Amino acid sequence: MKAITVEPKKPGTVRCEDIPEPDVREGSILVEAIAAAVCGTDIEIAEGKYGWAPPGKTRLVLGHESLGRVIDPGPASSLKKGDLVSGLVRRPDPVPCPNCAVGEADMCRNGLYTERGIKEIHGFMSERWRIEPEYAIKVDPSMGILGVLLEPTTVIIKALEQVMAVGQRSFWEPKTLLVTGAGPIGLLAAAVASLAGIEVHVLDRNKTGPKPELVRALGATHHSGSVLDIGFEPDVIVECTGVGSVIAESIQKVGAGGVVCLTGVGAGGIATRAVADVAAAAVLKNNVVVGSVNANKRHWYKANDRLARLDRKWLSRLITRYEKPENFKQALERQPDDIKVVIQFSEI
Ligand SMILES: [Zn+2]
Repeated sequence: MKAITVEPKKPGTVRCEDIPEPDVREGSILVEAIAAAVCGTDIEIAEGKYGWAPPGKTRLVLGHESLGRVIDPGPASSLKKGDLVSGLVRRPDPVPCPNCAVGEADMCRNGLYTERGIKEIHGFMSERWRIEPEYAIKVDPSMGILGVLLEPTTVIIKALEQVMAVGQRSFWEPKTLLVTGAGPIGLLAAAVASLAGIEVHVLDRNKTGPKPELVRALGATHHSGSVLDIGFEPDVIVECTGVGSVIAESIQKVGAGGVVCLTGVGAGGIATRAVADVAAAAVLKNNVVVGSVNANKRHWYKANDRLARLDRKWLSRLITRYEKPENFKQALERQPDDIKVVIQFSEI
């Protein structure tokens, strides 16, 4: 079968190749891939920045944002042939740490977890894949190809859950939420937050084009420029850029008792603000900065529900390109008008 594979930590080694059918040890459910979405992680693995092949192997099948159709549900699943499914990404560490032991591998404490398409387990960018019943999530059948947006939505659900959990340390009724960055995660965050009835703002460097339009279509307010100039102090900031200056400004700008949730992973940059000044702003306003990554089954369950409640036309505008597996090079290349690129393996 066709698969998109990479030799991790070696740039330029991605290829579309024939590999053996998935091993039954990878799960009792056999799935025909419909689509896999590309995210920054896939691009960074393709660039050789990180990634880990399964033990004893040199190549890793890429892909962690999945949508497939059940071919054979196997003996232990409540799924039926033809059901749409997506696969959880992370698997608990083998020790396990306390969080993995209670089903919160997203909060793993020792870093020994594995992740499909990223760390030591093959991903979903192959014509067929297998999955264990406990990690297969049935996708709302009415979602169609938009079900491929489920995984990034789970990341948002977890982040917002973290925000609410942290906020509950004192009396707190958040009224305003700012998202920094209008990539797929930022736009989905704005959309999911708008379902909760909170006033949503999105700050992005694009002043024109599809991203500001998508923000306004949600009934949210679009800003560009500096976080410091938005004209109000948000109760919540969901930071999706990973850019140092945006992070520092977010911590300074968030309202008293507010929460800044960091979801973007950046690196380097220039220190534009002294750490002590940023910290002082947090101290004097009782603010919290919380990092959030990945998601567990509870978040997947909620994401399925929230995604199905969003406007389908709006969601379909997030997918700006469909590519064939053979065109993996174009799929893994960032283009200016991209929001979400999807590699399509079969018709829905
Ligand atoms: Zn763990």
